[in-house]
Amino acid sequence: MSGTLIVGASQAGVQLAVSLREGGDREPITLVGAESRPPYQRPPLSKAFLLGTADDTSLAFRTPDFYAERGIDVVAGERVETLTLAASPSASGTATTGRGRTLGFDRLALTVGARPRRLAVPGTDLDGVHHLRDVEDAARIRRDLASASAVVVVGGGFIGLEAAAVARAQGRVVTVVEAADRLIPRSVAPVVSEFYRRAHERRGTVVRLGAAVRALSGEGGRVRGVVLDDGTRLPADLVLVGIGIVPRTELAEAIGLACDGGIVVDRYARTSRDGVVAAGDCTVAPHPLTSEGRVRLESVQNAVRQARAAAATLAGRPPPAAEVPWFWSDQFDLKLQIAGLAAGHDEVVVRGDPATERFSVLYYRDGSLLAVDAVNVPADYLTVRKALATGVAIAAEDARRPDRSLKELLAPRPTLR
Ligand SMILES: Cc1cc2nc3c(=O)[nH]c(=O)nc-3n(C[C@H](O)[C@H](O)[C@H](O)COP(=O)(O)OP(=O)(O)OC[C@H]3O[C@@H](n4cnc5c(N)ncnc54)[C@H](O)[C@@H]3O)c2cc1C
Repeated sequence: MSGTLIVGASQAGVQLAVSLREGGDREPITLVGAESRPPYQRPPLSKAFLLGTADDTSLAFRTPDFYAERGIDVVAGERVETLTLAASPSASGTATTGRGRTLGFDRLALTVGARPRRLAVPGTDLDGVHHLRDVEDAARIRRDLASASAVVVVGGGFIGLEAAAVARAQGRVVTVVEAADRLIPRSVAPVVSEFYRRAHERRGTVVRLGAAVRALSGEGGRVRGVVLDDGTRLPADLVLVGIGIVPRTELAEAIGLACDGGIVVDRYARTSRDGVVAAGDCTVAPHPLTSEGRVRLESVQNAVRQARAAAATLAGRPPPAAEVPWFWSDQFDLKLQIAGLAAGHDEVVVRGDPATERFSVLYYRDGSLLAVDAVNVPADYLTVRKALATGVAIAAEDARRPDRSLKELLAPRPTLR
């Protein structure tokens, strides 16, 4: 059978299938995913699911009936190993899965996501050493956490810090080891990094910055410690490695698609080959608001937006309007909400006192607002998101005034008569 083949059944793949149907597409759709369970959400894996307040049934995006009613054929537990495309410009071809199944298609979408980056040191194959990408990983960590006493999280990014917060909330001795000189270095300003360092330390976590891991040590096949470059040995019976992800580009490369730290797509989610689209964590794309350069965004919002664009492209419709990127992270009782992209900023404005655990940071370049990080201040997040979406300026000197709410600054100014 042919029709549309979507390889990768997760946030982007599901959205793509649903958007095709919402747009009136009646062609057969096959959504093939390597994981054995029906498509599910990843964000709770380092939050409520790890904590034990959400079970795996609550993770599913949709019920089996939902897919069946829309004629979306979900093939779970099958990894596409090879793709064969007919001569260009046709996008038809066949896919072969690891179980030997052949799937024909005349339109192809790659939504294959990413795999966790591995630590290149001895000892990573010891029991008790984990990565966190899928629900099986999370279930194993949850199980080991129940009996662990000392947890070392390698990598002070969002996933590592969320997991560290869960471990600490469960009373474990927790150390976060980060090679850079601050936490979450790729995504937030130093003031926000420093806030998170203090917030985790206030809650009893040890944070070691500028610390590289030399080896993981074990006994009887089980991890017992983390050895740092300076010779320090941190006791550990659970190690979580959260040092980023590597986009899965191997299928794309095998069929000759341009890749550059991700499958290269344009704002229509088109790859370098006509009729083949890609979306989500596996892609690099122009900046979603300025169309400049290439960025790789690892977020639900980006996966959904690109999948909608990919569906529009396959259906021959114009892409949906540009959307302000957003993201969130929950650590303890701290809710971080981010709108916009801070990359390239040359000025920050801090509103509120980070010591109160309620503050926001606005990012500017050449006086133009780029983004906000809001910790426990949803109003600032919503206001900046709206300002960025509507093109309303919030001047840095106004944002600096503690007596004015950001919302007030957004409101149209009264004209003088
Ligand atoms: C623990 C965790 C917490 C997160 N928290 C947040 C958050 O708070 N906020 C936020 O915005 N984002 C968060 N994210 C990121 C967000 O989940 C991802 O951006 C999103 O899942 C990307 O969706 P995707 O469909 O592109 O890729 P993925 O979700 O990675 O899905 C890709 C799928 O393709 C499958 N696949 C790969 N290769 C093949 C193949 N050859 N054949 C068949 N199937 C294949 C994979 O098995 C996988 O199921 C989090 C991610 C993780 C792991």
